[in-house]
Amino acid sequence: MSAPAIPERLLLGPGPSNVHPRVLAAMGQPLLGHLDPAFLEIVEDVKAGLRRLFGTANDLTLPLSTTGSGGMEACLVNLLEPGDHAVIGVAGVFGERMCEVARRAGANVHRVDAAWGTPLDEAEMAAAIARSAPRVVAFVHAETSTGVCQPVEAIAAATREAGAYLVLDCVTSLGGLPLALDDWGVDAAYAGTQKCLSCPPGLSPASFSARAMERVAARRTPVQSWYLDVSLLAAYYGHQRVYHHTAPISAIYGLAEGLRRVEEEGMAAREKRHREAAGRLLEGLALLGFQPLVDERFRLPQLSAVRLPPKVMEIGEAELRRRLLDRWGIEVGGGLGALAGTLWRIGLMGENARPECVDRLLGAVRDELD
Ligand code: PLP
Repeated sequence: MSAPAIPERLLLGPGPSNVHPRVLAAMGQPLLGHLDPAFLEIVEDVKAGLRRLFGTANDLTLPLSTTGSGGMEACLVNLLEPGDHAVIGVAGVFGERMCEVARRAGANVHRVDAAWGTPLDEAEMAAAIARSAPRVVAFVHAETSTGVCQPVEAIAAATREAGAYLVLDCVTSLGGLPLALDDWGVDAAYAGTQKCLSCPPGLSPASFSARAMERVAARRTPVQSWYLDVSLLAAYYGHQRVYHHTAPISAIYGLAEGLRRVEEEGMAAREKRHREAAGRLLEGLALLGFQPLVDERFRLPQLSAVRLPPKVMEIGEAELRRRLLDRWGIEVGGGLGALAGTLWRIGLMGENARPECVDRLLGAVRDELD
């Protein structure tokens, strides 16, 4: 039986983004065993590269064998015990998901909502933290469902003052924006590989502070997920090298190459490239009647949410996205949740944050609207 032909796409949605050929080539290298010293050397390189990108010296910084949602689950289920209080900022779909994961871990969830397309109100978050004496405070740094970049420092300060643990979702920010977990005072953070790192989905880079690990060690109850229990994972990813589960060898080769590419470019240049690409996109779209959802101060460069002009609504936004895919090989995302049908989400992530990708999309949209 022959395999179906896989079409070439330019992936300009909210993720995954296109994978660099060097990453794919790295993933095609011969398999090693997960305890082979040659593989463990690659694991150590990945851990060191992730520390630099996350802006942390945390010993337990590792690629979890799961997607971003699994990283979210790992951070929350390790730090929360049944009956604990958690303050969670909800400014889009992924804040909502955090609430559900924390609730299933047995936490009393205090949610602080923001209108979608705006950031969380820092004073409201601080008031909720002061009121509920939470074990954990959690929110999303780069909310992919709205295109908002959430400032971290003020909420982190309120968390610290309350003696709580801060969990930060960096799925869409890692590799696109500079991160400073240690300076910010983040205790646990997770990300994804399929966005600004331009690797395939399947791994969740994550980092846990020494303070977070002390909390895990002091738990009264075992972590309800055996697979995501970080004290068990630390036995393999730390120095003991005790088998826990078979590491996804090829995916880790790919991540190592993705991280190498980020370092070759440098994070400052990478951020600049993302900002320039987003500027070019929004300028071009404005001429076609698309308007950004998010105030300029809080806009993510790697994910632009844009309101749609009447012409797009006449054709039907889903129909137009379909034509972009079928006729032009370009994927863009629609709105999620409360924003479904009202906007597009256009990702210029990692390798795709380039003028030629922007111009290809603008040309296709212009042609379809003519
Ligand atoms: N958090 C954010 C901000 C995301 O954008 C996503 C995915 O798009 C996730 C979490 C969940 O990641 P995954 O789909 O890899 O499980």
